[in-house]
Amino acid sequence: MTVQICSCEGLDPKCKKCFGSGYMNTQFAEKTIKASAKKESAKQESFLPDTIESLSRKEIENFVPKIIDTLDLKSKKQMQILHAIPFNTTTFRRDFKAKFELLGKIEEEKQSLRNELDVISNALSSSKYSVAFKYGHFLSDKVIDVTSNRELKTLIRAYKKLKK
Ligand SMILES: [Zn+2]
Repeated sequence: MTVQICSCEGLDPKCKKCFGSGYMNTQFAEKTIKASAKKESAKQESFLPDTIESLSRKEIENFVPKIIDTLDLKSKKQMQILHAIPFNTTTFRRDFKAKFELLGKIEEEKQSLRNELDVISNALSSSKYSVAFKYGHFLSDKVIDVTSNRELKTLIRAYKKLKK
């Protein structure tokens, strides 16, 4: 049985396909793949409209908590996935291929959200005013190289320290 990443990425605990795990077996996947194929390309969520020049400062600021909440949620999911990978084994990359794929996919989405924050930061910054964002999760402002075992282990360790 092969596993497939669910379209909800495990962010929906009530998901009927994966039940919140983020993975579904292919028997389920075959059917949903066709339905979600079209959506997939347009799926990347964008909070910002094409042009934000016409918006007021307040309107632009209002996007920030939504974007950061989404970043935090995706970060939380990433940490859950990381905790479910037995890094002390020698075959975890192979055994948990789907988990690493999902980690990478979420990381891509987080990067595009960070890009949106950059756009906002640039729009709001002036010579006397710079913008600092407050994140709710340890991983939200971390750019993660999911191919680096060492980096992932370091992040897990730092996170555990933080939680103590
Ligand atoms: Zn799902």
